[in-house]
Amino acid sequence: MRVCIRPLGIVDASILDFLQASLAKVFGECEVLLPGKIPQEAYNPIRNQYNSTAILENLEAKKGCQILLGVVEEDIYAGNLNFVFGEAELGGSRAIISLARLRPSVYGMKNGDLLKLRALKEAMHEVGHVLGLTHCPNPNCVMFFSNSILDTDAKDWKYCDACRKKLLERGIKVRLDE
Ligand SMILES: [Zn+2]
Ligand SMILES: [Zn+2]
Repeated sequence: MRVCIRPLGIVDASILDFLQASLAKVFGECEVLLPGKIPQEAYNPIRNQYNSTAILENLEAKKGCQILLGVVEEDIYAGNLNFVFGEAELGGSRAIISLARLRPSVYGMKNGDLLKLRALKEAMHEVGHVLGLTHCPNPNCVMFFSNSILDTDAKDWKYCDACRKKLLERGIKVRLDE
């Protein structure tokens, strides 16, 4: 399976490289595409945030990419939620994640490898939705719903055995060894 990462706007290259290497191991192939733009209509000046659904709908499919993952640095929201870490089309082909609320500096901590790991967790989670997985009740599973960054930090970056089984039933094989 080929996952393509589309940075939207300026995105930390070290994070994109880490996601590319990690997702390539898990899904088989991963490529970072040329950066695109965040659509202006996605910006909500009252909230000073971007609407993730509007960004998602504007993500242009690319030939050869089964999954398209948009990555933004900007803060995003959806529906009546104050913010979201990401959004995906369940069983579709597109997903988006935001790094805005993953940065340890936002919580008064030093940035470092923690940001990479958090970005990978959010990417795995949203790609999981694209692959048809819904939220998982197992708090260690990456498909567990993150209400806050604490949930994200507490869970693993992997799909649990039950979620893996669901993927296998759909003919999707993933590699989750370290
Ligand atoms: Zn989710
Ligand atoms: Zn699970």
